[in-house]
Amino acid sequence: MPFTLSKSDFKVADNCMKKLKYKKLHYPSSMEENDFMKMLAEGGYVVGKLAQLVHPGILVTGITSEALQKTTELLKQEKVVLHEAAIQSGQKIIRIDILKKDGSRFDIIEVKAKSFSGEEENKEKMNLLEYARDAIFQKMVLEEAYPESNVKAWLLLPDKTKRTEIDGLAGWFKTEVQEGNGNFRNVNVTCINENDPDFEEKRQSLIKDGLLSLYDLTELTKENISNIQDLTKRMLELLNNEFQYSDSDYKISKACKGCEYKTNTPGEPDGYKECWGKLANVSPHIFDIYYGGTLGENKLLNELISFGKVSLWNLNKNHFVKKDGTVNRQHKVD
Ligand code: SF4
Repeated sequence: MPFTLSKSDFKVADNCMKKLKYKKLHYPSSMEENDFMKMLAEGGYVVGKLAQLVHPGILVTGITSEALQKTTELLKQEKVVLHEAAIQSGQKIIRIDILKKDGSRFDIIEVKAKSFSGEEENKEKMNLLEYARDAIFQKMVLEEAYPESNVKAWLLLPDKTKRTEIDGLAGWFKTEVQEGNGNFRNVNVTCINENDPDFEEKRQSLIKDGLLSLYDLTELTKENISNIQDLTKRMLELLNNEFQYSDSDYKISKACKGCEYKTNTPGEPDGYKECWGKLANVSPHIFDIYYGGTLGENKLLNELISFGKVSLWNLNKNHFVKKDGTVNRQHKVD
C-alpha cells in the first residue's frame, strides 16, 4: 500500500521536506503534544465547533475509506454542506473542515484559531499565508477529484474586531479530552444548547455576532499555487522512492534548533541527529547560546552552519558587537 499524503503531511513537509520522512515513519516527535496543548490553550477546538454552528452541515464520520465513500454519496446532492468531507485524488487524501457544494460550485472553508483583524486585510495577508497554504493544497486536491467544478478556498478566522452580544457564550461549550490508543488523543466539543427548543434563535444571534470572518484566498492562491503544486509533486516522489532526498530538498539551519524531531528518546530514531550527523554531537554547540539566531543581523548562525562550524568556539567577540558598535548583552550560554 503506497503512502498517502494528507493535509497534515503537507503542512509538516511544507515546513521542512525532511520532516515528511520522519512523520510517515513515525519518528518520535514533541509536536503532537505541543500542538495539542496549543490548540487547547488557544481554544482551537471550540473555534472548530463554533464554525460548525455558524455553517451547519452533515458531519462525515468513520475511518478514511468509509468517510470517502460517504462523501462521494453526499456530494451527489445538488446542494449540500459537509463537515470533515473526505476527498481523494491519487495518493492525496484530505479531510475538509467545511465543504459547501452548490451545483458545480464548491467552497472550501478551512477553520483556524488564529485571530485576525477584518479591517487590516492587506497588512495581515502575508501573516495569513502560513495558514492559507494547506487550504490552497486542499483546493488543488478537490479540483483534481472534481475537474468540472469551480472551487474557491477560504479561511475562517476569529475576528478580533468583533464582540459578542451573547451573555455567557463561553458556557455554551463543553470540552472533553478522549484518550485513544498510544499517544492518540482527541477533544470532543459539544454545544450544550444544541437540543434546546430555542436553539435556532440562539444560533441566529451567533451568526449575527460575526465572531468568525471569512478570508478569501483567491489572491493568495494565484500567487502560491504553482509553488504548492511543485512541492506536492516532490513530496509524492519522496513517498514513492523510499525518501531518497537530494541536496536541494532541505538544508540544516538555525531553524533546526526547535525541530520537533529532536527528542533524544533512548532506543528510538532521532530525526535531528539523522539530519545533522556528527555535527549534532559537537559540544559546546552554537545552539547552546540564547538568542544566537539574532547574531550578525540574523544571518551569522546559518553562515557558520553552512560551513559546518557549529562549535560555540567558532564565535568570537566581534560577533557580539552590534551595528552601532555597542555590545549585545542579551546572549548567554545555556
Ligand atoms: S533537523 Fe532541521 S533539516 Fe532536519 S527535519 Fe528538523 S528542521 Fe528539518
